[in-house]
Amino acid sequence: ILFEEQELDGGRVVLHDRRAVHIHKVLRATIGDRVRVGLVNGPMGSGRVASVVKGRPTRVELDVELGEIPTHQPEIDIILALPRPIMLRRILGQVAALGIGTLFIIQANRVEKSFWDSGLLEEGEYLEHLRHGLEQAVDTRLPQVRIFRKFKPFVEDFLPLVKDHYRFRILAHPYGTATLAGYLGPGEGRIVVAVGPEGGWVDFEVERFEAQGFRSCSLGDRILKVDTAVVALHARISAIREL
Ligand code: SAM
Repeated sequence: ILFEEQELDGGRVVLHDRRAVHIHKVLRATIGDRVRVGLVNGPMGSGRVASVVKGRPTRVELDVELGEIPTHQPEIDIILALPRPIMLRRILGQVAALGIGTLFIIQANRVEKSFWDSGLLEEGEYLEHLRHGLEQAVDTRLPQVRIFRKFKPFVEDFLPLVKDHYRFRILAHPYGTATLAGYLGPGEGRIVVAVGPEGGWVDFEVERFEAQGFRSCSLGDRILKVDTAVVALHARISAIREL
């Protein structure tokens, strides 16, 4: 169960949203039981159930003791051409669970305009999905989300400012000539990987990324859905780099 700093009041947290329902109905915790808790972007710890008020809405109070800060250091950032909302919802949970540092959500030629109207791009909405993923992974470090509604300013103005933070820059592209194993080496250094829209990157976009030092890498002959590609890329990069 994750909570925010402002929800902590003298060592006690009062919950009356889906987290209370989760403690009461899913975990079936009752007074005196302990549940694992975490402060978003802070330490993990445990919370002892102090009171449960059943019914609707369920209300649970926890006495919280915080302890260790998770040590994991995210080394991989993802640039994601905005996918359809149902897919984005899944990916938000996945990137949080996988420990991605920053998720850049960008416009690309084959992104449907209507995708930008989904409420998911509002902070309250996407944070909710990120939190689910963090809870799943028993982590507290929230990925940052940065949204770029235009492609050119992202690649031409923003990327030049940040590209040197990355030792490896990967453009995931089924027709890429390099392989991840051929491009990546072991050892230190941040990695950024750009995942295309459901229709793929257009040539102009590939050129723009390559002009910023990105290497087009293929995962092989199988064309993967965007959410599968995110997970497969993370798994392969982690295996190669032994993160
Ligand atoms: N027909 C599209 C194309 O021509 O690129 C397929 C796009 S795929 C559904 C969506 C994105 O997932 C791609 O732009 C790429 O970033 C990533 N992806 C999927 N399969 C891949 C593979 N075999 N190698 C590298 N990236 C892949």
